[in-house]
Amino acid sequence: MDQSQIDRILESNNIVDVINSYLPLKKAGSNFKARCPFHDEKTPSFMVSERKQIFKCFGCGKGGNVITFVRDYEKISFMEALRKLAERAGITIQETEVSKQKQTRRDLLYKINKLAAFYYQDCLIKHSTVALDYLRKREISDESIKKFQIGYALDTFGGLRNYLLKNNINDQILQFTGLFTSNNRDLFRDRLMFPIHSVTGEIIAFGGRKLHEDQTGGKYVNSPNTKIYTKGNELYGLFLTKQDISKKDYALISEGYTDFLRLYENGFTNTVASLGTSLTDSQINILSRHTNNFYIIYDGDKSGKKAAIRAASNVVGKGNNANIINLPETDDPDSFLVKNGNEKLYELIEKAQPLPQFLLEDEVLGLDKRAKLNELIETLNEMQDEIARELLVKEISENFKISEHAILSKIRVRRTRKGKTAEVTKITKFGEERDTLVILFNDNLIYKKVAQEIDSSYFLSEKYKEIYELVSEHLEGMGHIPSLLEKIEDENLKNIIAELIISEPTKSSVDEIIKSLKLRKYQNDLEQINEQILTSPKDMELFSRKRELKTKILELDKKVVRKTLY
Ligand code: ZN
Repeated sequence: MDQSQIDRILESNNIVDVINSYLPLKKAGSNFKARCPFHDEKTPSFMVSERKQIFKCFGCGKGGNVITFVRDYEKISFMEALRKLAERAGITIQETEVSKQKQTRRDLLYKINKLAAFYYQDCLIKHSTVALDYLRKREISDESIKKFQIGYALDTFGGLRNYLLKNNINDQILQFTGLFTSNNRDLFRDRLMFPIHSVTGEIIAFGGRKLHEDQTGGKYVNSPNTKIYTKGNELYGLFLTKQDISKKDYALISEGYTDFLRLYENGFTNTVASLGTSLTDSQINILSRHTNNFYIIYDGDKSGKKAAIRAASNVVGKGNNANIINLPETDDPDSFLVKNGNEKLYELIEKAQPLPQFLLEDEVLGLDKRAKLNELIETLNEMQDEIARELLVKEISENFKISEHAILSKIRVRRTRKGKTAEVTKITKFGEERDTLVILFNDNLIYKKVAQEIDSSYFLSEKYKEIYELVSEHLEGMGHIPSLLEKIEDENLKNIIAELIISEPTKSSVDEIIKSLKLRKYQNDLEQINEQILTSPKDMELFSRKRELKTKILELDKKVVRKTLY
């Protein structure tokens, strides 16, 4: 793929729209802000500039253009990111035969899952009265069936396989899709099929629910881990509910597909399902990009409550707010809504309790007060967030009527965990050089003027010198900043440049900045000559150079020179 194609892809994918489709961006001055998806943080330091079409995190240092973002967020290759963005913008990319062949397994897996979902949907409509009856009985609407692409897998060993082969999918790849057994037979047979979507809406796996009691296998059969799917890393439904979760600033977390669908159908469109009873760290991370307020709505029975406590404990441990919705012992969210309707559920949401209070008042689990307290101490032991920990200690103290000191004395002494800090070279001493580069990145017309006056030797910081040289080399690239970034392979350098690009220029004019750069360089040279004179005081050449420099400095700024040199 040549540069002009890459430029076209860059130009037709507004970075703000693209990033916004992954995580919610909030307007902040002339930029947009979010909590960084590449490191754990509570206050947003991830900035996106629409004008400059780049992103930059001031917390972990990561920065780049829209391609870098998609590549790193989705953990895919550069080419895959390009293809994705091209598709998003409706651009057909011309690829050479070689690069076509190199089309990665990942791409193919996405395609196969898409085809499989198509096939299962078709089977549901054409061949299954049992599956359709089941959906009708659960009052799942046609609209939801379409939205969530629910389907049905026929009771055959080769239905899907034949369909894929007919669609020119190579037999060799089938074993990597997670859709077949080791001898290439269809894994899902006679099951209601729920596709699992990535946060951007691609189908990456399936869950198959059995339809008859006497059927072999578990109630659910799920796709195994593949190159595009890791169990416990996804939240069911998030691709459609993330906007509402951000808007309402809270999320309902249910356990399974049918609870999710019932909640969604009843207008609780800020819901996700954890698919499995334990809410994983990575699921909490993903969801906390959209809200910090988690409302856990699991089954009302003993095992549901246990799971809810575990989930709430994880959520609180990672510095978010957790509230547990207390359903009657005999209900799950689905049955509760069918029986009681929306209003009653809203009432329960209002009454949802934070972990200490929920535990204290719970009677279903049959724990005594000491066991309840121990449960909370365990949570405290696991907590990574100091502030959240302090808050929880307070809450426990209030609910259990025991002093904070007594609680603290029960907590294990923790090894201090060092926060991961990204390797960002911190350059603070070279303000003028930085200002010059910021101005250059903000107004590329200025470059010529600057280039006439100073070359890279005026830059004393190695990094800034390198960047200035890069700018000179890729002068044509300056017309389009994101594509300049694309030419840089060194990630650290790329991060620094992204920071320069996104920074606002100082008020000083170019002339002033050029002047101060020159002045600094001359003074630096002068210092070196003075040192050389000390070691070889008879070198007349040195003295004449010193005179030259002094004259130059005087010409530049008499006042400054007087102050600093004599
Ligand atoms: Zn970051």
